[in-house]
Amino acid sequence: MTQRTTRAQRLAMPLARDVVRELAITHGGCVRPVQLRRTDLHTGQTEPVLVPCGHTLAAVCPSCAERARVLRAAQCREGWHLDREPVVQAHEPDDEQHMWIEMRAQAQQQRDQAASAGQDTAEDDELIAELDEEITRSGMRGNVLPARPVRRHRSTRRRQDAPDLPRRKVAPRTVGKTYTSPDGKTFRPSMFITLTCPSYGRVGSDGTPADPDRYDYTRAARDALHCAALFDRFIQNLRRFLGYDVQYFAAVEPQRRLAPHIHIAMRGTLSRTELRQVLAATYHQVWWPRTDQVKHDDSNLPVWHEASGHYLDPATGELLPTWDEALDAIGDEDEPLHVARFGDRFDAQGVVAGSRDANRCIGYLTKYLTKHVADCHQTQTPAQHEHAGRLADALRFEPCSPTCANWLRYGVQPRNPRPGLRPGHCKGKAHRREHLGYAGRRVLVSRKWSGKTLADHRADRREWLLETLGLPAADPARYTWAPVTPGDPDHMPNTQRLLHVVADRQRWHAALTEARARASGQPISELPATGRAA
Ligand SMILES: [Zn+2]
Ligand SMILES: [Zn+2]
Repeated sequence: MTQRTTRAQRLAMPLARDVVRELAITHGGCVRPVQLRRTDLHTGQTEPVLVPCGHTLAAVCPSCAERARVLRAAQCREGWHLDREPVVQAHEPDDEQHMWIEMRAQAQQQRDQAASAGQDTAEDDELIAELDEEITRSGMRGNVLPARPVRRHRSTRRRQDAPDLPRRKVAPRTVGKTYTSPDGKTFRPSMFITLTCPSYGRVGSDGTPADPDRYDYTRAARDALHCAALFDRFIQNLRRFLGYDVQYFAAVEPQRRLAPHIHIAMRGTLSRTELRQVLAATYHQVWWPRTDQVKHDDSNLPVWHEASGHYLDPATGELLPTWDEALDAIGDEDEPLHVARFGDRFDAQGVVAGSRDANRCIGYLTKYLTKHVADCHQTQTPAQHEHAGRLADALRFEPCSPTCANWLRYGVQPRNPRPGLRPGHCKGKAHRREHLGYAGRRVLVSRKWSGKTLADHRADRREWLLETLGLPAADPARYTWAPVTPGDPDHMPNTQRLLHVVADRQRWHAALTEARARASGQPISELPATGRAA
């Protein structure tokens, strides 16, 4: 540039680095690519390969989050209207897996011989635990043996009361009923259901309570904490009620009033009346110690006793009841700490495969997956900020799990106590503002939904791409991979990586556009020069 520019003019110019990042996003490229070194075992040549970071939040990497969302949508679409039972085929075990199982067998025999000879088995048990970990790490599902039950004296009588529902034997099928129309066409509709939490007080259209002092924040907090357990119970009841292994793809997200609601794509149908019946009979009881009395506030916190590995009452020096003791103290006439239920308001509609409705519903199901729960609805007004603040306050001292530090506040030691626990400072996700009390997974998919894992769906996509581009599939045994660290001579700084990402994506888009055009018989000269159209 020959002309003189002022400082203000220069400041108004875009930063080259930002433009690179923007361009990477425009082309659907990862903005935080990981650099690996690939070695070709046939030729000995090494090559840098940039692998997408794979983050699912758009705030971290918009392109990877969008790809993850699209993959979820594909998973949802594929399972929703299955008309055949999904075949879940386990891979053949490989040599490494065989080896771990053989070692596990020897360890078991050694342990059992020691046990029958009355010897100490602690060391053998430790070895077995380590081998079990290796077995899992090598990519095998489940455990060799069922876990030994933890000894507990508490009566299980008061667990979950049986819901007042007709119970059918659950048949091992996962596919819903088929209907035949008068003209002989058969169809198998599926359902889109939205379940909400009950009312905690009237709210306005901005989601904030009409009367904040009477809004039940404690109940709202507890319902959010136990939402995932309640959903499990709902599915169990639904399966018993309908008499088959109902499959679902569900997404949990907040409503404007910041209470979670659940969108569910379900295979098969039921009537609104039946759904109402199942919902009315569905509840989750939380049998935890009482929390209505604060026994230890910040001025007299329980003290850790190193020798016993327990917490003491600072005034009396006595051990606080352990988690198990506190549970055993719950008597027959006691009430559960909390009973979670869904609200009366629900939404249900039948959806036919491939319809516009189906696409719209899949849109709903995946709409917010790239955002944190709390970012789905931006708090803008002072009333909304206050509402979010009150909910966060209610969650601060609410125990999130049996291991939560907050139990000390109510005079009970959490399960597996350790030093340094402080009520109000539990690390559990549920307490964090961005989680609004819901610490579970955002997408809940039943095991036999599409019969595929997310990795399988990803592999499907890769296969489709290779086929479209007419490329041969690479032989995985031919390469080894190693991470590249900042000290390595071939390490590329992030902006350099992004330049490679932009160039790769452009080339790749162009190739894909060309391949598609060839497939549809369109003349290639009419295509745009860059890959942006793809
Ligand atoms: Zn990324
Ligand atoms: Zn907690």
